[in-house]
Amino acid sequence: MVYVVNTLIVLVTVVAMEGFATVVHRYLMHGSLGWGWHRSHHEETEGLFERNDLYAVVFTVLSGALITFGIAGVWPLRQVGIGLMVYGILYFIVHDGLVHQRWPFRVTPKRGYLKRLVQAHKMHHAVDGRDGCVSFGFLYAPPVTALKRRLAGTGALAGRRGTAAGPRRSPFDGGELSRGRGAELGGKLQD
Ligand SMILES: [Zn+2]
Ligand SMILES: [Zn+2]
Repeated sequence: MVYVVNTLIVLVTVVAMEGFATVVHRYLMHGSLGWGWHRSHHEETEGLFERNDLYAVVFTVLSGALITFGIAGVWPLRQVGIGLMVYGILYFIVHDGLVHQRWPFRVTPKRGYLKRLVQAHKMHHAVDGRDGCVSFGFLYAPPVTALKRRLAGTGALAGRRGTAAGPRRSPFDGGELSRGRGAELGGKLQD
């Protein structure tokens, strides 16, 4: 029985972390306090790492600390820490891997929920700067049509079209989103 409860705690932590990460992303990382680190993720950066990776370091240290206290006997910190770790792994696979292709191979979901997840995060990067962005979750993605409407409603994309840089790529093509971030949005969004 205790295994069932412990497994449930891990699962609930993973789900809760998505809610927590969404709130942190929206209000802290895109707020004046957290933008200093997160900004690097919305701009062109050189090299393998960006300042925004410090958030991952913080959560990794927190997860490690919880697991350590859990092993020392404080129930249920081990399970909560493992939940945090599982969420971190899923975040890495979806966000750093599938969306931003920060791994040495290319995997691009062509259909289903994973495709929607990738599209939704590309739409998060469709707006330059920290204001007017949509889709702050990492494992939950609202329907793309809803995001499209919301983006059009914010007007944050105004003036982003038809620059000398040529046609922009569409976030709907399932292709790669480079580290150039915002410049990936195609005209389809404003149709
Ligand atoms: Zn962001
Ligand atoms: Zn991103």
